[in-house]
Amino acid sequence: MEKICVAVRVRPPMSDESSNGTFWKVEDNRISLHKTLSTPITGASYTFDYVFDQDCRNQTVYELLTKDIIHAAVEGFNGTAFAYGQTSSGKTFTMNGSENDPGIIHLAVKDIFTKIQMTNDREFLIRVSYMEIYNEEINDLFAVENQKLQIHESLERGVFVAGLREEIVNSAEQVLKLIQSGEVNRHFGETNMNVRSSRSHTIFRMVIESKGKETSTSAYSSLDDAIRVSVGHIPYRDSKLTRILQPALGGNAKTSIICTLAPEEVHVEETKGTLQFASRAK
Ligand code: ADP
Repeated sequence: MEKICVAVRVRPPMSDESSNGTFWKVEDNRISLHKTLSTPITGASYTFDYVFDQDCRNQTVYELLTKDIIHAAVEGFNGTAFAYGQTSSGKTFTMNGSENDPGIIHLAVKDIFTKIQMTNDREFLIRVSYMEIYNEEINDLFAVENQKLQIHESLERGVFVAGLREEIVNSAEQVLKLIQSGEVNRHFGETNMNVRSSRSHTIFRMVIESKGKETSTSAYSSLDDAIRVSVGHIPYRDSKLTRILQPALGGNAKTSIICTLAPEEVHVEETKGTLQFASRAK
């Protein structure tokens, strides 16, 4: 598997506006801006590992883009799956999903526990945390009293958020309940949804530790694995988000980036910006 896998996903249009200008056309793993079906616009064609059109389900995105990372995480690699894109382009839909179409986090959590249950020769300890970075302040979504947390760095732990609550978990259902309760603590104070979501990023993280059952007496038999699944967009000026994700993006890490696109013509310039970010990330 490549270290970084980059995909884009186009959400369904919100209105039936009949565009007499340009539109995005998806063919295999290419997306290009067109004037008519047979007339592409020069300089606006992009190729990625995958391009998912508006009919694609979260399950397919998960299978093709994220599943390998999740399986590698259970085996000892760091993994990150993040969504990037303008407000209302489909990041939350992709990560959290809907009732009929569970999102990447839900599918990943279920998959991790299934994989662990099938691994009879190892013992696992799983911890989860959930934080929001809002206006450059880090808040704990599992504990409302933990606000404005600081990033620290140590030789032993690397970069970490001091004081962030970690819950030990034993089942997918328990994790999904915790995430649901964390959602309530997100910042919904802003009256303007656009302002809120462009300033709010969340990182859901699972740390998976395991040791071989038969060698459990040896101090070096333990493996320290981490998988991090994050929701939110990643503008690089956002220093805290970048710093927290950095260890997950280097070293032995595997990363998938899903760039979400709004298909409407009014968003063409923002969409081009997202596609350029996605091209640079490859
Ligand atoms: P973001 O998190 O990027 O601000 P959302 O995920 O909230 O955007 O998406 C905006 C709207 O579009 C929501 O109502 C969401 O349900 C819908 N939507 C996004 N992506 C899809 C998709 N692939 N299929 C169906 N509806 C989608």
